Amino acid sequence: SIRAPVAKKTTTLTVAVKCRPLMEKERGRDIVRVNNSKELIVLDPDLSKDYLDRIQNRTKEKKYCFDHAFGPESTNKNVYRSISSVISGVVHGLNATVFAYGSTGSGKTYTMVGTRSDPGLMVLSLNTIFDMIKCDKSSDDFEVTCSYLEVYNEVIYDLLEKSSGHLELREDPEQGIVVAGLRSIKVYSADRILELLNLGNGRRKTESTEMNSTSSRSHAVLEIAVKRRQKNQNQVMRGKLALVDLAGSERAAETNNGGQKLRDGANINRSLLALANCINALGKQHKKGLAYVPYRNSKLTRILKDGLSGNSQTVMVATVSPADTQYHHTVNTLKYADRAK
Ligand code: ADP
Ligand code: MG
Repeated sequence: SIRAPVAKKTTTLTVAVKCRPLMEKERGRDIVRVNNSKELIVLDPDLSKDYLDRIQNRTKEKKYCFDHAFGPESTNKNVYRSISSVISGVVHGLNATVFAYGSTGSGKTYTMVGTRSDPGLMVLSLNTIFDMIKCDKSSDDFEVTCSYLEVYNEVIYDLLEKSSGHLELREDPEQGIVVAGLRSIKVYSADRILELLNLGNGRRKTESTEMNSTSSRSHAVLEIAVKRRQKNQNQVMRGKLALVDLAGSERAAETNNGGQKLRDGANINRSLLALANCINALGKQHKKGLAYVPYRNSKLTRILKDGLSGNSQTVMVATVSPADTQYHHTVNTLKYADRAK
């Protein structure tokens, strides 16, 4: 006899790490090595190369293991391939969330949005969705819509609008949590999405800090919704994919400037902390069964709730720089990613 598959009730979490190339202007030492498809090594920059050669020991290396590890020569397509099964579920009514986590300058936006020659996960995901719809053999009707918002200082703005006002979250009895008034556009191909994302990114709140002149202090969320109307069953299936370019993960204290910027930092941490707490709870849920997941603690986690609960699939892409000057940020990011598992 054939047993019916057991319904999956828990969220699965996949963690990938991506190390960007060392840039010429960094002139520092490259301290990150990707060992194999899962392992990454970080050298301690405090020990000079001479010293390491002399004592010939490798104990000052830290080794981290994830579901996938990508080095500087990897393209966004390489990263995408490792997580594409998560994305394709959206065409079958499943929810998923993919987020890029890392310090400012580590490659989050490059990974999510990318360039024309190396399109990022947002663009590649939409490509897959349209390819799947094109190849679909059923007579089902599909409708794909996109929205693009940012959460800055715990306020939501529409990145598809030229000058968006503050948007509020509402609990809809049928749709769950919705952003009231958020623009949602119908899309028919992935062609113009890169332009649209770049336009939206130009509207993101950036503020110069001592660390980086265009440090992005907002979280950007692209939501791709696929509505599938099944002809035979007269039924509608909805899948949602959220792709999130998080604000820089560096701590407010480290930016060393007061006033407005410090408050920004505190709020960014609130959303990141809330996200971390949700991810931790999901991890526990996975191992030990039910656990309370504190979605309500920030705007970001409320927005992402559907894609972080039920039978959703979650992917975290941790981005790091290989430069010795970024050692602490790199280690912090890898520890965060490691704890998430
Ligand atoms: P973040 O969004 O995390 O602040 P960015 O994505 O803006 O960081 O990346 C910082 C810089 O590094 C940019 O100039 C970007 O073009 C470059 N960069 C990041 N990842 C790569 C990569 N894989 N290949 C080439 N350049 C990259
Ligand atoms: Mg960025």
